[in-house]
Amino acid sequence: MAEDIKSMTEEELKQALAQLGEPAYRAAQVYQWLHRGVKTFDEMTNISKKTRELLVKNYYISSAAIEKNLISDYDDTRKYLFSFADGETVESVLMHYHHGYTSCISTQVGCKMGCTFCATGQGGFARNLAPSEMLAQLQAEEEDAGIRISNIVLMGMGEPLDNYENVVRFLELVSSEHGMNIGMRHISLSTCGLVPRIYDLAELGLQLTLSVSLHAPNDQIRSRTMPINRKYHIDELLKACRYYISKTGRRISFEYAMIDGVNDSDANAAELASRLRGMLCHVNLIPVNTVGGTGYKKSRQNRIRSFIAVLEKAGITATVRRTLGSDINASCGQLRRSAGGAQSKEDRKE
Ligand code: SAH
Ligand code: SF4
Repeated sequence: MAEDIKSMTEEELKQALAQLGEPAYRAAQVYQWLHRGVKTFDEMTNISKKTRELLVKNYYISSAAIEKNLISDYDDTRKYLFSFADGETVESVLMHYHHGYTSCISTQVGCKMGCTFCATGQGGFARNLAPSEMLAQLQAEEEDAGIRISNIVLMGMGEPLDNYENVVRFLELVSSEHGMNIGMRHISLSTCGLVPRIYDLAELGLQLTLSVSLHAPNDQIRSRTMPINRKYHIDELLKACRYYISKTGRRISFEYAMIDGVNDSDANAAELASRLRGMLCHVNLIPVNTVGGTGYKKSRQNRIRSFIAVLEKAGITATVRRTLGSDINASCGQLRRSAGGAQSKEDRKE
């Protein structure tokens, strides 16, 4: 059966091509073509026809086809719905900041974690994405928008640490010198808190930014909105976060979706502050995006302001995330739902 060539490291490719009787420099050439985003072996113009035929017989190149593409009228945010060879679809968002382009990509088709506020979580799980399919999202965006991506966030559909091996391999490929060469300091990984995998990641000592989706100050609220918390309680999660910080020296960003009447009181802020005290961290508040059927509403502006004031008084820095592309459903899971006809009126309002 043909193999997924774009998920191979340059070293693996070297060994595989040597077995097919090809010299070492050929692997470097092929690797560079793959990471420039070619979709067929025929586009590799400095590779002989004979070698290309050999490659076609043994390998396939995964790519992401654009099914839908929305561009925000407010800013330059572009939202994509991509499909892969088997017809499965994922979302990705390309954002334009003053320092360059950031892409938010998906790591799984769907998600098993079932967070109650999340459109992806409500849709269930289909499969993991291969490293090549994560790369393919970036490559399709660069080609479509005619730009170069400088930053990546693994914050699209799926739980990156539930697809650990493929995500770590993706990180290695995307940061490789002959690949897209995007440094770890330009990459963020967001997790709902798979504690054992946070320890594994800490051992790798990568310089990437870890974002932890906390969304609650205590187990009672968190277990209600995030089922993963029933397995790994907040104290365990924060212990793993402290370990991650000590191993990597990197500041952790805690994501906190502000939900009206659920987790947004001053008492909630005070409890959060006491748990995070002394940690090298930052809190990112996100007014929750209303997903049809959940009944959750965004916190009011003055509630958010008051919440921040409590955190800051306790010495915890916090900001409200700027929402980009608010006219195009830029938060993940929503475009895919609408493509499937499941979008509600409330979704459309977002
Ligand atoms: N599975 C990972 C990464 C993908 S979700 C994680 O949970 O961290 C990316 C971010 O969007 C997470 O912080 C997630 O909690 C948040 N999110 C999901 N649904 C949301 C909603 N309706 N409103 C605001 N943030 C949401
Ligand atoms: Fe999965 Fe993240 Fe959504 Fe939770 S918030 S269901 S972990 S994608």
